[in-house]
Amino acid sequence: MTKKNSTRISHKCSFCERQISDPQDLIAGSGGVAICRECVGICSSMMDPSEKKRRQGGVAQLVEKLHVPTPKDLNDELNRFVIGQDEAKKVLSVAVHNHYKRLKTQFLQFDHLSEFDGVDLEKSNVMMIGPTGSGKTLLAKTLAKMLDVPFCICDATTLTEAGYVGEDVENIILRLVQAADYDIEKAQIGIIYVDEIDKIARKTENVSITRDVSGEGVQQALLKIIEGTVSNVPPKGGRKHPNQEYLQVDTSNILFICGGAFVGLEKLVQRRVGKHILGFNREQDEKTIAPRGLSRSEMNIEQEDMIHYGLIPEFIGRLPIITRLMPLTKQDLVRILIEPQNALTRQYAKLMAMEGIKLIFKDDAYEALAEIAERKGAGARGLRSLLEEVMLNVMFDVPSLGNVTECIITGDVVRGLKEPEIKKK
Ligand code: ADP
Repeated sequence: MTKKNSTRISHKCSFCERQISDPQDLIAGSGGVAICRECVGICSSMMDPSEKKRRQGGVAQLVEKLHVPTPKDLNDELNRFVIGQDEAKKVLSVAVHNHYKRLKTQFLQFDHLSEFDGVDLEKSNVMMIGPTGSGKTLLAKTLAKMLDVPFCICDATTLTEAGYVGEDVENIILRLVQAADYDIEKAQIGIIYVDEIDKIARKTENVSITRDVSGEGVQQALLKIIEGTVSNVPPKGGRKHPNQEYLQVDTSNILFICGGAFVGLEKLVQRRVGKHILGFNREQDEKTIAPRGLSRSEMNIEQEDMIHYGLIPEFIGRLPIITRLMPLTKQDLVRILIEPQNALTRQYAKLMAMEGIKLIFKDDAYEALAEIAERKGAGARGLRSLLEEVMLNVMFDVPSLGNVTECIITGDVVRGLKEPEIKKK
């Protein structure tokens, strides 16, 4: 008898995978599965209708307070910060407006909508396709700020399928929870921007055994949280491990905006369209290909193109709204330097104004900056480092020169051919 007790066999909980030594703490099911006392507790609190109501009540209060601007107002506000990209602004304004309107219908009672009882509005996550530095992150960030909801940016390239080296997809939810100061209810109505989504496209060759380079596993994992699930998030990030408490976050009301450059996608679109043109209905196809007079390079991207690119159909299915950002022209880059409320040149002007110095950029300086940035091919992203380079000496020397009233930057200063013109009292 005594011997039997001393050789207690420990069993594993099939849910949290912890070893449980006390058989009283484990319920065994058929087929070798078992669940531990702690997991039963978590499940029962999740299923408990009053707990569910309490959680939803918190979200409902937040949703009730949320002011949802009209698409037009959202678009107008975007215009203050983002240059060009009119089509993307319009698509995003409508998508974001509808997303939060959907939340209102879900959590609040509207008497005049009783005839639509049973009509559930589906979540519409967004895919943005555009070259680097064209404003994808800026658009998503500006929208989140306007709605005053938590927002985070994640990089899809750091994610890997469970079991490989890299971050679990749940970490992107953790970022949002952190952006909401660990207020889970608030995080549940936030916006996540997933950058570099094109980098998890399926590739044919798999060259690494430590990292899921094929991308398909990550897409599978991501699609679950994008669609909506109760995600177990490790509160400290990193990899999940069995002896850990998790934060439970319902992702079904989080808006996911994915972005990527999708280099080479154009060719796939052209191949598809080209095929159609060779068909019988050439005239009609031309019309659908080029609505509103779009040029061939601005053709509509369809879900099938994304599938050919390597995204799995289920994943693409969760991102039904696809919009495209155009490469920024030299003229756009000039406008970016001058127009946005937080324009880079204004930021430097403010810094110099603190010293009582008026910083003046001549028109040819803007042109030169835009020209060099365009040549570098990193869109508006290149402007900042370029301007930083140009301004380094000015920022270093000028404040200690004394009595300076004006500092003038010309095209030649930008090109490194001349020193800035300094005016003194
Ligand atoms: P992407 O996400 O497309 O790679 P970002 O939105 O991160 O590019 O842009 C990088 C920076 O360049 C932004 O912080 C912003 O200052 C500037 N920028 C990019 N595109 C625009 C734009 N269309 N209008 C104004 N600023 C822009």
